[in-house]
Amino acid sequence: MKYWILFLLIFLTGGCASTILKNESNISRKQLLLMPEYMVANMARDSYRTVLKEANKQNKLNINASQVSRVKKISNQLIAKVPYFKTEASQWSWEINVEESEDVNAYCMPYGKIMVYSGLIQKLNLTDDELAAVIGHEISHALLEHGRERMSTAAIQQLGLIGFAAYISNKSSRNKSNAAVQAASLGATLFFALPNSRMQEREADAIGLELAARSGFNPFAAVTLWEKMKKQDTKKPPEFLSTHPSDDNRIEDLTNLANKFKPIYESNQSY
Ligand SMILES: [Zn+2]
Repeated sequence: MKYWILFLLIFLTGGCASTILKNESNISRKQLLLMPEYMVANMARDSYRTVLKEANKQNKLNINASQVSRVKKISNQLIAKVPYFKTEASQWSWEINVEESEDVNAYCMPYGKIMVYSGLIQKLNLTDDELAAVIGHEISHALLEHGRERMSTAAIQQLGLIGFAAYISNKSSRNKSNAAVQAASLGATLFFALPNSRMQEREADAIGLELAARSGFNPFAAVTLWEKMKKQDTKKPPEFLSTHPSDDNRIEDLTNLANKFKPIYESNQSY
């Protein structure tokens, strides 16, 4: 019986795989991507829906029209260039929303569900290039399947391999509505509760800045952005600061990346 489940697990999932992106940073490594793509996509879609519903109920969803159109314009400019890195990402159902919040944060759930908090734009008084640096970073986590990787690791840790296989096979059953509710709550827990690792952050910084540069945004804005972040005294660190105790190192790394992508930026500027 156990062997049968293991076989099913291997059959159902790709096991260890790597997210191959075309990029100048040579980012490629083996990732634990056991959670099937369709399951992660469903979880992300359902938990994003829950977030939107809740924000809407509190009258906090897309309140400031000019801010929303600015965020959408910048995001769409970045999304237009994602096929360069990952062809199939152009087929994702991208969504972009702004939530009124004091928090200085933004995220992109797996398969293109973007959320920007108004606090990020207002408290840091972000320029378009700086906003593109944050959104580009968040989009890159999705392109690199970091959410799926974190969910896979956490599910294996919580359930064990056999339990995970049983979970996967149960989810293929007919009890879809119940499964959807469970999936949404598990998805939200796994996505929001687990921070990205340092390695994932470094990868998202590199791909994010290259994406910004290819979309015509100045990559040096990432440096001014982190300088602004450093001055902020936030109780809850935003996603993009969560695993970086040493800001100086990151600013140095970002400066090096910005220099590297400067020629790409200059050749992709629209005059
Ligand atoms: Zn990040």
